[in-house]
Amino acid sequence: MPDVIELTKALIAAESVTPARGAVFDVLEAALVPLGFAVERFVEGEAPDGPVENLLATRGDTGPHFAFAGHLDVVPAGPGWTGDAFVPEVRGGLLYGRGAVDMKGAIAAFVVAAAARVSANRKLSLIITGDEEGPATFGTPRLIERMAERGVKPDLCLVGEPTSAQRLGDTIKIGRRGSTVIWIDVPGRQGHVAYPHLSDNPIPRLITALAEIDAITLDSGNDWFQASNIEITDIHTGNPATNVIPGNARARLSIRFNDMQNGPALIARIDEIVQRHAPGAQVKGTVYGEAFLTQPGELSTLVAGAIEAKLGVTPELSTSGGTSDARYLVKLCPVVEFGLLNATMHKLDEAVAIADLVALADVYEEILRRVDA
Ligand SMILES: [Zn+2]
Repeated sequence: MPDVIELTKALIAAESVTPARGAVFDVLEAALVPLGFAVERFVEGEAPDGPVENLLATRGDTGPHFAFAGHLDVVPAGPGWTGDAFVPEVRGGLLYGRGAVDMKGAIAAFVVAAAARVSANRKLSLIITGDEEGPATFGTPRLIERMAERGVKPDLCLVGEPTSAQRLGDTIKIGRRGSTVIWIDVPGRQGHVAYPHLSDNPIPRLITALAEIDAITLDSGNDWFQASNIEITDIHTGNPATNVIPGNARARLSIRFNDMQNGPALIARIDEIVQRHAPGAQVKGTVYGEAFLTQPGELSTLVAGAIEAKLGVTPELSTSGGTSDARYLVKLCPVVEFGLLNATMHKLDEAVAIADLVALADVYEEILRRVDA
């Protein structure tokens, strides 16, 4: 029977800054094989987005098919840690190390839960990528392709991202907002400020376009999402001279949006406004993720029930925060995210309470027991 603390420590000690492959996957595979999982690993991609390793582990025959998804890559440690970020250390009831909460601890907890449920013969899979913290080019989307080739089709999916805010179990995520970034470039004609008739200042056109954009109310939210929001995050001309009219004026927008919007339509709407004020301007957008929602129902009720039974907490069903790999998995089946406290994720001295690790394994086991029931 694997130990959740020891397995988390072993995963932290296998340094795996995104994009990740190799040793950290060896550790996970070594834990899964004795539990009856068939483990398939594959490495794809080239620098800078790769190479990335992905792992697909499956076992059992009894439906419905329950999947756990997560990532073994971590963000860089950065300078200023009290200890070594990749030498796990227990101090004062906390286990320190990069990835402790995001999300090696949750992966270890699920392995322990799966170990306790071997006899149920439930169809189980682990969908584990080495590229969630990066652009995900060779990560979960490639795993989903591989699953399609293998005929691996989960019916329910739990993502182990750190969703808890104040205490373990207080929040589960049933969806996420979408995200798009839009770059605007308004051309003009550079010239001397003393001869404005010989030049064409792009700044006023950009400003009037931005004023219209800033006045937009996209929506006022709905039952499960807060209102969509446009933020102007940068304006620049790159012009250091006091006597020069700049040749270009540029701006950047960031939009976080709910499921009443979609990325391409937002980009088109911004483009239409910009072209009206500044004909010929370039508007380019990148959609980092569409909004998605798993309607509260069977899966969220099951997860919330397990949390209530084991922790005595009623979780809030939330769609807040940044995007996650759930945005890809939601195309396969209903997805709920639940994991450790997110207070120290991506920070210096990332740490998980030992008691929370043990409790999370307990909740994950209870979730599997309820699927089996
Ligand atoms: Zn994460």
